[in-house]
Amino acid sequence: MDCPYCQSHKVVKNGHRQGKQSYLCRECGRQFRENPCPGGYSSDAERVTTEVKPRQGNCLR
Ligand SMILES: [Zn+2]
Repeated sequence: MDCPYCQSHKVVKNGHRQGKQSYLCRECGRQFRENPCPGGYSSDAERVTTEVKPRQGNCLR
């Protein structure tokens, strides 16, 4: 388990948050969870939204 902020290995368990293991980084002092938010899904949703917008603009012309 590495720190997602500074990639340090000096992480310690810091209890549970919402049923997930929480960690504390001894290097930078930040807290994080075992599974960080999956960014792929939200970026896909953004891509779909940006694809739709130009189409709507073409329809208005
Ligand atoms: Zn860190």
